[in-house]
Amino acid sequence: MNSKIWLSSPHMSGNELKYVNEAFETNWVAPLGPNVNAFENELAQYLGIKNCAALVSGTAAIHLALILLSVNQGDEVICQSFTFSATANPIIYQGATPVFVDSESETWNMDPELLEKAIKERLRKGKKPKAIIVVHLYGMPAKMDEIMSIAERYEIPIIEDAAEALGSKYKDKFCGTFGCMGILSFNGNKIITTSGGGALISNNNDFIQKARFLATQARDNAPHYQHSHIGYNYRMSNVVAGIGRGQLEVLNLRIEQRRANNKFYREMLDGKRGITFHTETTNRFSNYWLTSIIIEPEITGITREDLRLGLEADNIESRPLWKPMHLQPVFSGAPAYTNGFSEHAFENGLCLPSGSNLTNDDKRRIANQIRKILKWN
Ligand SMILES: *Cc1c(COP(=O)(O)O)cnc(C)c1O
Repeated sequence: MNSKIWLSSPHMSGNELKYVNEAFETNWVAPLGPNVNAFENELAQYLGIKNCAALVSGTAAIHLALILLSVNQGDEVICQSFTFSATANPIIYQGATPVFVDSESETWNMDPELLEKAIKERLRKGKKPKAIIVVHLYGMPAKMDEIMSIAERYEIPIIEDAAEALGSKYKDKFCGTFGCMGILSFNGNKIITTSGGGALISNNNDFIQKARFLATQARDNAPHYQHSHIGYNYRMSNVVAGIGRGQLEVLNLRIEQRRANNKFYREMLDGKRGITFHTETTNRFSNYWLTSIIIEPEITGITREDLRLGLEADNIESRPLWKPMHLQPVFSGAPAYTNGFSEHAFENGLCLPSGSNLTNDDKRRIANQIRKILKWN
C-alpha cells in the first residue's frame, strides 16, 4: 500500500521548537506568558487589526463573541448554513436559536439576498436577530460589501468566521477584519496550526479585553478569588503559542504553497467539462486552504463518490464538502432560508488533498489516480 496522502496535515517550519524551548527554559509552561503576548501582537500586526486574544480554539472564540454581543436564551442568531458545525454550536451553548441562511454560487458563502429576506421575516415575526455569523468557506472571501451594507441597514453586528481564511483578502483587506469581531482557528488541519488553538480579533479593544477576562475564569481585581461573572477556561497556553509564533513566520509561504496546489489541480483538469472549481472573482484573494470542486455527474460520467472512493483506493484522502447545517439532524428544528445551492454542492462537491506539505511525488500519484478515475488513460 502506498503511504497515506492526507487532505490537510500539519506542516511545521522548524522554528516552532525554538519558541517552545524558550517556554521550557524560562519555565513559562503555565498558561499565558511571553509567547502568548508576542503571538497576539504578531498576529494583530499581520492582519492590520488593533487587538487579538489567543484562545484554546476557534469554537471558543465564536462562543466569546456571542457572549460579548449579549446573545442569550431565546435570542436568534443568523448563521451561514454551508459551514462546519463549530460555526453554529456556540449559538446553542448560549441557549439561542440559529437561523440558517444558504449560500450563493459565486463565493459559496452567505447569499446577501437570502440574508435580507431572513432578517425581514424574523422582524415580521417580532424578533430582531442579535448577530450574523458569516463564513469565508475554504478560504474564499464572502460578499462582504453586500452583507455589511445589509447588516448596517438593520443594525445587526457581524461576526466573521475566518477559521479557514487566515491570509485571505477582499479588496486588499484581510478576512476577519470586516465585522465587529472575527475569529480564527489554528486547529491541526488549518493553514497554520498550534495543534489546537484559535483567536478572537477586533478593532474594538473593549471586546478583546473582556474576552481575555472571560477566558481566564472572569476573576475580579482582588487578592482572593472573587467572581461577578461566569468565566471560562479558554486561554491559549504559552507553550502552544510558541508553536503559533513559528507558524506565523511561514504563513505567507503556506499561502503560496496552497495556491500552487490549486493551480496544479486547475492545470490537470483544464478543459474537463462538468467540473467547477471554487474560484476567486474580482477583488478576492483566497488562501485556497482546500481546493474544492463541484462535479456534474451527467457531464463527467462519474459522481463525487466515484472520485472520492477512487482516491481512497490509492490511500489518498479527500472529503465531501461540508454538509449544510440545515440538513444536520441536530439542527433539524431551526429555521432555514435555502435556495438549493449548498445541498447541491454537498451532494456533488469534493475537497481535494491540499496540504502545503504535498510533495511532487504525492502530486504525481494524485494526478495519475484522478486521470484513471476519469478514464483519461
Ligand atoms: C475549524 C473551524 C472552526 C472551529 O475551529 P476550532 O479551532 O477547531 O474550534 C470554526 N469554523 C470553521 C468554518 C472551521 O473550519
